[in-house]
Amino acid sequence: MTTFPSTSEPRRSRWQDQLRDAIRDVVELASLLDLPADAIRHADAAADFPLLVPRAFVARMRKGDPRDPLLLQILPTALEAVDVPGYTADPLAEAAHFAEGGLVRKYRGRSLLVTTGACPVHCRYCFRRSFPYSEQVAARGAFEAALAALDADGTEEVILSGGDPLSLSDRKLDALLGRLGALRALKRVRIHTRFPIVLPDRVDAGLIRVLERHPLVRVIVLHSNHPREIDASVAAALAALRATGVQLLNQAVLLAGVNDDADTLAELCERLFDCGVLPYYLHLLDPVAGAAHFDVDASRARALHAELLERLPGYLVPRLVREIPGRASKTPIL
Ligand code: SF4
Repeated sequence: MTTFPSTSEPRRSRWQDQLRDAIRDVVELASLLDLPADAIRHADAAADFPLLVPRAFVARMRKGDPRDPLLLQILPTALEAVDVPGYTADPLAEAAHFAEGGLVRKYRGRSLLVTTGACPVHCRYCFRRSFPYSEQVAARGAFEAALAALDADGTEEVILSGGDPLSLSDRKLDALLGRLGALRALKRVRIHTRFPIVLPDRVDAGLIRVLERHPLVRVIVLHSNHPREIDASVAAALAALRATGVQLLNQAVLLAGVNDDADTLAELCERLFDCGVLPYYLHLLDPVAGAAHFDVDASRARALHAELLERLPGYLVPRLVREIPGRASKTPIL
């Protein structure tokens, strides 16, 4: 019987080389971007969640600007070491929902499968930054049990999450999708990924072949927070994904200093739509320890959202939501 992950891997792809060559050293990053020394003064305060950023993403940052909105999302700072009441390692209480083999079961009819703990980038505000997801992934065993549970449950939608599921090689992804395709009640697979935004070369011929072989992948939810993240290389990657017939959606996180103004959010929505992506969710920050400095309070978020509703056609305005532990779906902020 084929198990996930499969064994022998072919030679590394170009995107895997780029990932290996990603920047992990703040001094190197500062030098590449001509940042002043004080911009990285306390960057080692976040040693438990180190810097990781592909050069392709760094290339879209403004040189000499320590407030660049792309940089702020990935640069560790001393603020992360500040203990803020209410901010915890597992803000969505996901530990309580983990089942065997990397399954997270919070939603009726849908199951989330943690496929890997690896990401192409370390986003400083990530709600998974402190939780040991890598210990829970399906690849660590018990995958057969997870599949059996999904089949027995009559799960209709599997959400591949992580980490970032496109961290898996094409071969592993192919094997995983093949196994999921055998589930009797499954209608679709959804993939949540930031790869096409931060490392668009991940969308190569190999990945496109996998997606074409597995039309049950009906939805890819991207994660882009700022219009400047979407350059020509990202637009080309998104066009290639769309050509497989997959529906592209985006979820953004509302982040202080990054995208907490109506001009930026409106431009992001327009840019996404130009690339065939529907703005889907605008999330309030999850209160994860180390990210409090990104918080935008609900009343300001409401005001920004109201401005978007005035400025954009309804289909371009993402739903403003927050995740509340224990609720069976995202909670709209009204
Ligand atoms: S899970 Fe997504 S948001 Fe979190 S660090 Fe990885 S890529 Fe960033």
